[in-house]
Amino acid sequence: MRPAIIVHGGAWDIPPDMREAHLQGCSRAVEEGYALLSQGRSALDAVEAAVRLMEDDPTFDAGRGSFLNSDGEVELDAIIMEGDELRTGAVAAVQHILHPISLARAVMDRTQHCLLVGDGALRFARSIEMDTVEVPELLTCRELERWKAIRAEKAFEQRDVFEDAVTRYKRKGTVGAVALDSKGTIAAATSTGGTPNKLAGRVGDSPLIGCGNYADSRIAGVSVTGWGESIMKVVLAKRVCDNMERGMRPYEAGAEAIAYLKARVDGLAGVIVLARDGDMAHAFNTPHMAMACIDGQGRKKASL
Ligand code: ASP
Repeated sequence: MRPAIIVHGGAWDIPPDMREAHLQGCSRAVEEGYALLSQGRSALDAVEAAVRLMEDDPTFDAGRGSFLNSDGEVELDAIIMEGDELRTGAVAAVQHILHPISLARAVMDRTQHCLLVGDGALRFARSIEMDTVEVPELLTCRELERWKAIRAEKAFEQRDVFEDAVTRYKRKGTVGAVALDSKGTIAAATSTGGTPNKLAGRVGDSPLIGCGNYADSRIAGVSVTGWGESIMKVVLAKRVCDNMERGMRPYEAGAEAIAYLKARVDGLAGVIVLARDGDMAHAFNTPHMAMACIDGQGRKKASL
């Protein structure tokens, strides 16, 4: 099997002055993941490494530079899944963790559970001696300013931040990666700071299996971004996989699921899809979606 990988850096109305940073961030992540795959490393290692790079990059709403919740705190969600045995690990509403994707992987590898939340997730991180960070390491000045501006507004619609309100909010996106390794295993990973000014304790689609992420090595892997409250209602990632199982190609499978999301709950989202034969695509109904991929021939593409 020839390895392949696709990553995304969010789906929303990315303004011109932020496009280069998104393309660069996605390109770096996809190259990092592909380098590992080329050395014979697993799809899990590749998606974890790609997502860690984007969690470090304040361009994105994941890890460092994430949105603040209504209490002015950073709460992060992440999930990782490997498609041979459908093993998965996730964390939600976790604080003081720079790389929630690695904590999600530890939940998968080192516990009997699939999802840990909040303080329990943090205590688990400490129990395995994962580094924790203080809020200033996750917080950027830009997020503090954004938070103050949103708090000063009377009405703030979460849905708007994915469609057309970027001139006001200059938002940023969730990150994700899907990889196929030389053994034919598919893995998928998604990591996010959620939505700006979310209520403390709010969990979006991203860490929920089948909603923000799914991987089945017999079919395909999927990572999702967009308005979480719409995505989780239609279990979007699993719908894309089910479409693939019914014989659709990646673009068709993604586009059908997005069209259903729009028709059923007026949702907004973007998906990346990687099939077991290495074919891949992305589909979205937001103004832009940041992505990059490297196919089985080693050809790289990045787009917005
Ligand atoms: N889906 C994420 C959430 O609702 C946000 C995003 O994808 O940008 O938490």
